[in-house]
Amino acid sequence: MRAVAVYPGKRLVKLIERPEPYITAPSQVKVRMLEVGVCGTDKELCAFVFGTPPPGSDHFILGHESLGEVREVGAGVQDLLPGDLVVGTVRLPCSDTACDACRTDHQDFCATGQYPEHGIRNLDGFMAEYVVEEREYLHVVPASLRQVGVLVEPLTIAEKAWQEAVRIQDRLPWKPSGRKALVLGAGAVGLLGAMKLVAEGLETFVYSQMPAPNPSSAIVESIGATYLSSQEVPVSEMARLVGRIDLVYEALGAAQLAFDVMKRLAPNGLFVFTGVPRAESLEAFDTYKVVENLVLKNQAIVGVVNSGRQSFADAIRDLGIFHQRWTGVVERIITGRFPMEEFMGPVMGRVDGIKNVIRIGEGK
Ligand SMILES: [Zn+2]
Ligand SMILES: [Zn+2]
Repeated sequence: MRAVAVYPGKRLVKLIERPEPYITAPSQVKVRMLEVGVCGTDKELCAFVFGTPPPGSDHFILGHESLGEVREVGAGVQDLLPGDLVVGTVRLPCSDTACDACRTDHQDFCATGQYPEHGIRNLDGFMAEYVVEEREYLHVVPASLRQVGVLVEPLTIAEKAWQEAVRIQDRLPWKPSGRKALVLGAGAVGLLGAMKLVAEGLETFVYSQMPAPNPSSAIVESIGATYLSSQEVPVSEMARLVGRIDLVYEALGAAQLAFDVMKRLAPNGLFVFTGVPRAESLEAFDTYKVVENLVLKNQAIVGVVNSGRQSFADAIRDLGIFHQRWTGVVERIITGRFPMEEFMGPVMGRVDGIKNVIRIGEGK
């Protein structure tokens, strides 16, 4: 079978031939990959910023945002049938018996840092024609979501952020009303976050660099949120327009703007970071103002990383809700589909678009 592989030692990314994997345990499932989404993480892996092959190998298969179709199930798998659509978990538990998070099925909160991740660290990814995986790490997607199911994994980021936001805002001894949310960034993670926030009833603004109109701003307007360009509207003006920034969902990975916005967070507000900044992106950090606000305004700042079981369940449910509520809009997040031979353009960041997807198979 064909697969896209990264060789960190040789600084090489290429299409390779691999023997097709087969089921070796009754709890396993063989999946025909249909589509794999490409994101900033893949671009960094292909620039060799990070990424670790499985032990004993000099390469790893790329890809973590998957959609596949079940081909074959092990004798012990009772609840999946060939033809079912599935999305794979990216981060798996570490093996440390003392890691409470991993031992209770919450590897997204792993405390040892020794977790493996498909297509990123110590495990092959999903950009291959076939994958064999344990049943417990696969999530069933309804057939009606065939065209957008590859967005489940990026949506788990918004789901995790929302779960955390609800828990953290529960600390307030009353139920806040009329809350407003600000999304930083209008890539796939930002847009899916905006959909989640609108669906949860928050008045939502999306603040991103590019002036409107553009494909992202059109999606933002279609879901009833407001798009503001940081090139046209400075942070102070944006804060005035929004009025009260109760919740910030950061999906930029560029810390400077995030810290400028943080100073405008409303009293009792929550700032959620989801993007990993580049080391060089932070120029100035107003420690005094940020800490003063945290104390005098009871604010909270939290970082989230995705891939918990509940986040996948919520993402699959909500993708169905978004798909019904905004017919034809969710599809527009996927701006390009490329055959496997043309993987280089998307993974090297040579093609534009919101979410580019590698098309691996058609399914039955
Ligand atoms: Zn990703
Ligand atoms: Zn762990």
